[in-house]
Amino acid sequence: MDSTTPDRASVQIQIAGGGDAFGSGGQFQTCFIVDDSHGRFAIDFGATSMVALSKLGIDAAEIELVVLSHLHGDHFGGLPFLLLQRQFAASTCRPLTLAGPVGLQARIGALMDCMYPGLWDSQWRFAIDFVEITLDHTTTVLGRRIAAQKARHFAGAQDCLSLRIETDNRVIAFSGDTGWRDDLIDLARESDLFICECNERFDQPYDTHISFETLSKNIDRLHTKRLLVSHLGPEMVGIIDGLPVEAATFGLKLAL
Ligand SMILES: [Zn+2]
Ligand SMILES: [Zn+2]
Repeated sequence: MDSTTPDRASVQIQIAGGGDAFGSGGQFQTCFIVDDSHGRFAIDFGATSMVALSKLGIDAAEIELVVLSHLHGDHFGGLPFLLLQRQFAASTCRPLTLAGPVGLQARIGALMDCMYPGLWDSQWRFAIDFVEITLDHTTTVLGRRIAAQKARHFAGAQDCLSLRIETDNRVIAFSGDTGWRDDLIDLARESDLFICECNERFDQPYDTHISFETLSKNIDRLHTKRLLVSHLGPEMVGIIDGLPVEAATFGLKLAL
């Protein structure tokens, strides 16, 4: 390919989970699988993600990087199973890089200690690297450039992040879990894909998730090539077929 030839469709994404924390509508918890020129990575890895990948015929051992928006169980609770599969069941022992909010290594260690006591400090047969994504500068991880904003959400001492991931000249913006913030407009600007959480149909007394009511009021301010709503709660799942926007339904494949 010469330098004037556009590199079309070099980034592929498959939705391995676009549901809420509770399995509403049979949807799996948050996980998006991205294939680019560098390899394969996952964005978030919920407690149900190994089951989801198995149903899709995706070998989890091929994932070289997991980028975590925040450290809630429906976004990182599947990591112990991913680690154990690579340790005990996978035919390969590809290194694994975990990138996420500052402090992720201690939280993942605590999660492992809770679920499989004694394993975390054992000898892993593959390298595990941790990369902290900070708010003040772009972090490059295995060829992907990751910028982050602080989300309106709470997950303990570690930040909850909205992410803007650039790879192969494509931009994937992901709100993570958050209430509405005007800086999501900056996050999504000129993106090839914006995956925006939309847990509720109508505004709620709490503001740590986005409602479709609020998203609809702001949708014309979002300048993205493609918008997907995700993290769909029961009311959103109930109207999924009539939504005027595209939903992150299980198994959906996109080419950017
Ligand atoms: Zn969540
Ligand atoms: Zn959350």
